[in-house]
Amino acid sequence: MKNQTESNDNPSNFIRAIIEKNIRHKLYENKNWGGTPGDKNHHSKGKKDLAKIRTRFPPEPNGYLHIGHAKSIFLNFGLAKDFNGACHLRFDDTNPEKENDEFVNSIIEDVNWLGFDWQFNSESNLFYASDYFELMYTAAKLLIQTGHAYIDQQSADEIKKNRGTLTKPGINSPFRNLSPDENLRLFEEMKDTKHADGSMVLRAKIDMSSPNINLRDPAIYRIKRTTHHRTFNEWCIYPMYTFAHPIEDALEGITHSICTLEFEDQRPFYDWVLEKLLDNKLLSNPLPKQYEFARLNLTYVVLSKRCLVELVEKNYVSGWNDPRMPTLIGSRRRGYTPEGFKLFCERIGVSKADSWIDYSILEDCMREVLNISSHRRIAVLEPLKLVINNLPDDFEEECFVPNHPQNLELGKRTIKLTKELWIEKADFMEEPEKKYFRLFPGNQVRLRYGYVITCTGCEKDKDGNIIKVLCDYLPDTKSGTPGSDSVKVKGNIHWVSTKYALNAEVSLYDRLFKSEHPGLESENYLDDINPNSIKTVKIKLEENLANIKPYDQYQFERHGYFICDQESTSDFIKINRTVTLRDTWK
Ligand code: ATP
Ligand code: MG
Repeated sequence: MKNQTESNDNPSNFIRAIIEKNIRHKLYENKNWGGTPGDKNHHSKGKKDLAKIRTRFPPEPNGYLHIGHAKSIFLNFGLAKDFNGACHLRFDDTNPEKENDEFVNSIIEDVNWLGFDWQFNSESNLFYASDYFELMYTAAKLLIQTGHAYIDQQSADEIKKNRGTLTKPGINSPFRNLSPDENLRLFEEMKDTKHADGSMVLRAKIDMSSPNINLRDPAIYRIKRTTHHRTFNEWCIYPMYTFAHPIEDALEGITHSICTLEFEDQRPFYDWVLEKLLDNKLLSNPLPKQYEFARLNLTYVVLSKRCLVELVEKNYVSGWNDPRMPTLIGSRRRGYTPEGFKLFCERIGVSKADSWIDYSILEDCMREVLNISSHRRIAVLEPLKLVINNLPDDFEEECFVPNHPQNLELGKRTIKLTKELWIEKADFMEEPEKKYFRLFPGNQVRLRYGYVITCTGCEKDKDGNIIKVLCDYLPDTKSGTPGSDSVKVKGNIHWVSTKYALNAEVSLYDRLFKSEHPGLESENYLDDINPNSIKTVKIKLEENLANIKPYDQYQFERHGYFICDQESTSDFIKINRTVTLRDTWK
């Protein structure tokens, strides 16, 4: 495994190259499209497909989308857009136990949030695999009738045992040679709830000694009395994923079915199903083709839905939208942006080799994008009082602050300088360490956008804690006025007025896992949870943030990028730190 990003500047990749070649060879030139998904008969009555290619993003609605899905979304929707094709959003809902409408709705929102939709001309290509149950049932019956599938009444254990191993061929089931009529009767009985869950399965009849274990008569239908989120109790038999998926692709006229590498060994079965159904005239050419790419693995992150469900259910996080979660909904609350994900996906590229992407690459992408878009504001995260001795109690003066130092078009605002200010605790040391250029008795620093001050000392409480820093200001040194730089200083600190500052609470996040590859060395990824992944502190904000509302994003000078939390109100301002200004992890 390598630990690198691939080609940055050239967003081309091997899948793109394949598509370009297919288009050059006019592979999909005469493809018909019935306007909606359907079988050969349906599409043959349609028109020439205006979409040059069709891709799909096929999530199972059994959880929220995560950062890995973003890679697949940018790839599939991005390719369709670039090649004047269509990308379908398809809910792969053939496995009813863990699927529900909450997940369906969240997936729709997340794909939209990333900037994509499923419109192509006037078509809306949002589909549910469960809408094809009837056609899948027909497909299964066709396989039975032509001798390519049989009902196996062995127990699950026997089937497993007789499958063989990598070095040992499998053993034919004693039920393998039942007649098509007998199989058809049993399959219909299966559908008609005449048999118990697990008592029999429908299997493809291929080759029990195939070197590819996936071709040793894989199961294609099973009995499962579970209520489905859309078809309710209409079916008690459900197709297996590996059988359903090629059919879904074919019915939708998908040209390029792009999936992750773990499905590479399934490709021969994918092709087998489609070819058999082509022979049976349920489907027509050109058939979809499967292509595999490396899934995203991010250091310090788990991206398996099983693990994400566990983190939520066992309350390791506050929910799917906890800002520490790698879900898209959590990322959004954290302040990660669609533009940042786009840059990230371009930067990491698409390849056929598994690798780990360093989490800091994702953070860098977010920083880069936020640096351009974020207005600057001032916040004091660990407030300590600073008193300017030589100012009257009621002193007030406006200071002018650019909203973005590199983009003056974003304008300026004013903040009020008063006798008492909040500064960062870390900006004062009674006894400075080496190379400390900020406040200490006798030293001079600039109050950013204001005056140069000279520290005159501090006050402590009875326990010796510093509660107040004292200073004198130097007239004629105000930023932006002539001669202001006559006094040279090495330190430049930020501040807010104690009189005008707003109170807020900020959550400072760190990585949810403390190890680079959670669960790899420790066996259980839960043992790698970082116990200090969140710290909540009371902070002071400049007065211009009085109207801050959920999802507003800013850079707080010297601190990083922040977003107003969805639960924030005008009475209780809640902020999340998206990312620090620089990588501080190492
Ligand atoms: P999990 O294995 O964690 O349950 P999944 O792959 O089953 O995830 P699906 O909802 O089936 O999740 O995924 C929808 C699409 O997203 C699939 O095409 C899948 O290949 C892709 N995908 C999922 N995880 C990643 C990842 N880490 N990197 C890239 N693509 C991914
Ligand atoms: Mg899956």
